Amino acid sequence: MTGRILILYTGGTIGMVPSEQGYVPTPGFCKRLREQLGPLAGQVPEYDLIEFDRLLDSANLVPDDWCQIARLLQQHWADYDGFVVLHGTDTMAYTASALSFMLQGTDKPVILTGSQIPLSQLRNDGLDNLVTALLLATSGDIAEVCVYFNGRLLRGNRARKVRTTGFDAFDSPNCPWLGQAGIHIELRHDLLLKPGRPQFQIPDLDPATVMILGVYPGMPARLLTAALDDERVRGLVLQTYGVGNPPDADQALMDTLATAIAKGVTVLNITQCPEGAVSQGAYATGTTLNRLGVISGGDLTPEAAFSKLHVLLAQGLTGETLRQALTRPLCGECAEPTGDSA
Ligand code: ASP
Repeated sequence: MTGRILILYTGGTIGMVPSEQGYVPTPGFCKRLREQLGPLAGQVPEYDLIEFDRLLDSANLVPDDWCQIARLLQQHWADYDGFVVLHGTDTMAYTASALSFMLQGTDKPVILTGSQIPLSQLRNDGLDNLVTALLLATSGDIAEVCVYFNGRLLRGNRARKVRTTGFDAFDSPNCPWLGQAGIHIELRHDLLLKPGRPQFQIPDLDPATVMILGVYPGMPARLLTAALDDERVRGLVLQTYGVGNPPDADQALMDTLATAIAKGVTVLNITQCPEGAVSQGAYATGTTLNRLGVISGGDLTPEAAFSKLHVLLAQGLTGETLRQALTRPLCGECAEPTGDSA
């Protein structure tokens, strides 16, 4: 065990305490952690801890919070061997994805973790998640943004919160786990990304730029029209059925999409299924989207699709460059395109 770690405490259940309104994040996490570690303190890697001024229930997180976390990491990048970000579980997958796109070419580990039961409570899962995340961050084997939770090391931009109350709250349905922590910590070296050359690009993000909408039986075109009736909207993640099929018999809905695309809105198609990929054109309904110029999101998760579109648009990508970047893996977030879709 070597190395020095920076822990960022952003909020989340791990650092919450009970209140009359339910759990709320509270300052003073560092002290609580040192108390919990007690005599074991000498066995865990050395760390510094930065506590955010505005501690978040991650349900309240906005895209600018991703940038704040990324900027802090960038600012301290040279001073530490690895980073652990303590974060609420509700939107951890969004943050992990966004960080992976802003911190491209990462040559050090950034491990996000949190817990289902606060560190301050009996039977908490926070201490183990945090201690294992610290060990992973000092292992010297990881050079990417990951989520570690309940024995699973997951690629950050493939991770999803899949359970509301189980300790096994996270999984990566379209990507094998990168590692497992049981008695031994076993890493999939064949899957882990190789250290890159940091090319961090952390743009300002306007929350109005990108939206995500799922189709449903009978969805009225006016919902889409209203959503797109804002000049700031430049990207739409559309969640369709199965392998990427929209209700294309609704001409008004398709016309609304066509008008948005003609105005320069980038539409990225992902599936509503928890597992699998879009194959835009396997059915005639999906072929309609190819004709309209909708981009296939392949096997991107909703969190990765949303944050990738946000970050790439804010980094200034447009036209064919944007389309190429959206369909190809930049940092392991999706499979290589198969060529059967737009
Ligand atoms: N609402 C909490 C959060 O996301 C849930 C958690 O951390 O588990 O901040």
